[in-house]
Amino acid sequence: MVLGSTPFPWDKGFLGFYPRKMLPMSVLPFDDRDGVIWYDGSLVPWRDAKLHVLSHGLHYASCVFEGERVYNGKIFKLTEHTERLFTSARALGFDLPYSVAEIDDACRAVVEALEITDGYVRPVAWRGSEMMGVAAQETAIHVAAAVWPWPSYFSKEARLKGLRLKISPWARPAPNTAPTQTKAAGLYMICTLSKHDAENEGYDDALMFDWRGRIAEATGANIFFIRDGVLHTPVPDCFLDGITRRTVMALARKRGIDIVERAIQPEEMAEFEEAFLTGTAAEVTPISEIGAFRFTVGEITRNLMEDYDRLVRGEGA
Ligand code: PMP
Repeated sequence: MVLGSTPFPWDKGFLGFYPRKMLPMSVLPFDDRDGVIWYDGSLVPWRDAKLHVLSHGLHYASCVFEGERVYNGKIFKLTEHTERLFTSARALGFDLPYSVAEIDDACRAVVEALEITDGYVRPVAWRGSEMMGVAAQETAIHVAAAVWPWPSYFSKEARLKGLRLKISPWARPAPNTAPTQTKAAGLYMICTLSKHDAENEGYDDALMFDWRGRIAEATGANIFFIRDGVLHTPVPDCFLDGITRRTVMALARKRGIDIVERAIQPEEMAEFEEAFLTGTAAEVTPISEIGAFRFTVGEITRNLMEDYDRLVRGEGA
């Protein structure tokens, strides 16, 4: 390790030989960065934004979060995301001790404080450590919002050539097993299992079916298919109806493209020509491969990628 550098958890790797200052932000561990995080009403130094190990949110997944993108210094669809955070919290039985406007302001405050032009905002709310057990009625509700620079979720190469998806052995659960329309942290256990399963075999991401065996979504994004100029996408009846999903559907309608929301069976993938993912982080990203099925990165996908890009950067607003 070079003198004056901060020790890394992965110190044995080559990164440990570089002074901390020389490393790009993207490789720094998330608990050891400069800047501030909005935490329970005020901006605190990044490294001080901690919680107790006996927090209910950590043990029992009584935690909800959002994922937002900053383009040219502005958070895209901020209030829609904040409202979804409140909806997710209510689905888990708690109310945030703030107004939607206050959380909007908190998100804007961290973006401004860190001078982020293109990045990702993470608001999160969780139950505190007043009670340790399944019951959590008397816990305090904590809220935080952090932001970091994040140019692209998938690599540039993957975005141009199309993603390779593995079909996950894990399924999206039935809506009577969990609040499946929310960004409740517990639901992401299935996404992490699926993503790791795919990455361990060299894929970019995983496609999950639902509990009935129908096509559902990727681990952090919704899915669309194209056949004969028509968009097909699963009905979001047991997974998140993404803000990007709805945005891209509006953009497609503007282009006069027909959209069919319906139950899609896995074997239908043999007949689709194009496929793409939509999500705040993923934006619009083409897919080249899902298990044994192949897709081309075609014109409709490329047009929607461009439309979305223009919209989020304010050009098409
Ligand atoms: N599904 C899952 C599981 C996700 O995590 C996300 C990302 N929030 C999406 C879909 C897409 O949602 P959005 O377009 O609102 O980001």
